[in-house]
Amino acid sequence: MSVKAEIISIGDELLYGQTLDTNAHWMSNKLDENNIKVFQRTTIGDDEQQILNALKVAENRVDVVLITGGLGPTKDDLTKPLLAKYFGVEMVHNEEVINDITLLFTKANREVTALNAKQAELPANCEKITNPVGTAPGMWFHVNNTVFVAMPGVPYEMKSIMTQGILPKLHKMFSKGVLHHHIIKTIGITESSLSDLIEDWELNLPQHIKLAYLPTKGQVKLRLTGSGDDLNTLEQEIAVLQKAIMPKIEKYVYGFGTDQLEGIIGQLLNKNNLTLATAESCTGGYLAHMITSVSGSSKYFKGSIIAYSNNIKTAHLGVSTEDLRKHGAVSEKVAKAMAEGVRRELNTDIGIATTGIAGPDGGTIEKPVGTVWIAYSDQYKTFSKKFNFSRNRTFVIHWSALAALNMIRLNVGVK
Ligand code: AMP
Ligand code: MG
Repeated sequence: MSVKAEIISIGDELLYGQTLDTNAHWMSNKLDENNIKVFQRTTIGDDEQQILNALKVAENRVDVVLITGGLGPTKDDLTKPLLAKYFGVEMVHNEEVINDITLLFTKANREVTALNAKQAELPANCEKITNPVGTAPGMWFHVNNTVFVAMPGVPYEMKSIMTQGILPKLHKMFSKGVLHHHIIKTIGITESSLSDLIEDWELNLPQHIKLAYLPTKGQVKLRLTGSGDDLNTLEQEIAVLQKAIMPKIEKYVYGFGTDQLEGIIGQLLNKNNLTLATAESCTGGYLAHMITSVSGSSKYFKGSIIAYSNNIKTAHLGVSTEDLRKHGAVSEKVAKAMAEGVRRELNTDIGIATTGIAGPDGGTIEKPVGTVWIAYSDQYKTFSKKFNFSRNRTFVIHWSALAALNMIRLNVGVK
């Protein structure tokens, strides 16, 4: 039976929408890595009755309750005295907390105040968990069969307490078996088409290995999650499954795990000893930004000409005014001329160009918002492909850049 956890995020600011509950997101991820199933996430305000209710409900349904927020020394933070009330215990002075705070403050040259000293008052039944970076300690309660952990809301303090104090304790207490995730990253295929393509394989997956489709902006990740007793065995089983499906999806797979498309492009260009330049109209430099976010990109990326206006397209990329007049800036002809132009002007092996209508204005019936031409040029070929990315401006820009990167991936080194 798997260990179940609930995360309770406390703070009025979370309900008002002033603060995003990043703590729950981070904790879910860490618990998952430790094979603890997050059963429920609950968000409540700094309210006595709500906090007491939430504790009761959680105690009845999970093995581990992780609480963040409301641990400050100020009056608005209620969690600590409420935990004492919930467990029916007194608040007692814990000298260790004073020592921790003094140590922390000596380094920062700060005086311990009466309000800080209040942090040393803890519910009598808790085990103090040191906060290496702040004044409010974490608290660990093991009551009946449930573990309760309370931590401050400040994200870096919570993370520090979790990493150094809580996760090792949870691991020791519950570690039974392992969970292993493996991610296959695809681009250029929709979630439904991918699912059709791999249906037979998916239906034959063993019980202990689950498949999830994770679509993100313009890409679909396949996550295989295996549970078992031994990590090596799981890794091998997943490798065999991957090998079986690869021939069908190879064209769409650009990487695994933490691979990024822009990094993969870099590796390909390096391997083939080729250089790249971009000519960008609708992406306005975003493509170059993605490419240069990879360290070491200077080895293969020479630069970009952001040819937003027609004048720049003609003056700096050699696009003919005739083509612009006849076909418009968003056209196959112009895209190809831009890709060839930037390759010539910046003296690179490959030129890639984007020209499109990002919107929300500027669309026509013939060329609606989201119409984008992307062109690729190298010593063997120059071609352009039309895309229709509807939705909003940011979306069109992002998808155009991804499609351009994918075009590079599919064509580098191909004659
Ligand atoms: P507290 O421990 O309630 O005094 O929270 C201190 C600060 O941490 C708050 O002012 C928020 O800015 C931040 N905070 C609290 N809870 C969360 C949360 N769940 N996720 C991210 N930040 C939080
Ligand atoms: Mg608070």
